[in-house]
Amino acid sequence: MNWKKITAIVAAGTMMLLLAACGTTSTNKTSSNKTTAQVPSSAKKSDWNLKVVNIKHQVNAKFVPTLTTVDNSQQLDSRVVASYNKMKAAAKAGAKLVAGSGYRSYEHQEGVMTRNVQEREAKGMSAAAAKKDALKTINPAGSSEHQTGLAMDFVTPAENAAGSDVTQAFAKTAQGKWLKKNSWKYGWVLRYPKNGKSSTYIDYESWHFRYVGKANAKYMHQQHLTLEQYVAKLSK
Ligand SMILES: [Zn+2]
Repeated sequence: MNWKKITAIVAAGTMMLLLAACGTTSTNKTSSNKTTAQVPSSAKKSDWNLKVVNIKHQVNAKFVPTLTTVDNSQQLDSRVVASYNKMKAAAKAGAKLVAGSGYRSYEHQEGVMTRNVQEREAKGMSAAAAKKDALKTINPAGSSEHQTGLAMDFVTPAENAAGSDVTQAFAKTAQGKWLKKNSWKYGWVLRYPKNGKSSTYIDYESWHFRYVGKANAKYMHQQHLTLEQYVAKLSK
């Protein structure tokens, strides 16, 4: 066999392999299209409602969104108030939602961290251990999504009446269950799900919901994606 023939055979073989690969890819694509939702075509990483704020993506200390007061107590970015009110109205029959904590300024977030560290120290933790434990569910100033005005921590009416803070027990309340199941229909997502820590850097928070817009929320909910994972998908 001469080199020309060998080259031709190898080339033909390579072509068949390539075709086979293409065939497999397109078959997978076709079948997955039937069962998998498509990434919203208009979604862009730079969209205001997809803004990522976490320990690695900080928000400027001076950043203040245009705010509107909701529930006579908390503030949200004015652009998300209509969807927030719709969600509350829909939940009302089975689960009266109460705003626990919405927008926080840089200084407010600093105060939240200080208070939480002090509470832990009062229970006997060392300063270092208290800080480490607080950081599991609280972002330091500059890294909190609450500074965007796009997030809300919910409490139950009973917790609110008692003036108490968010608790892990919220997941088992009617409010927690309703939000987990339905918030996406109004453009809000459970921001820190179980097993989401590798991308969010925050433990499970059953009370913290974030506005991302209806189409994005639907996709994220169906595909079980955190905001970080979803945005990474968009930039690819
Ligand atoms: Zn929160």
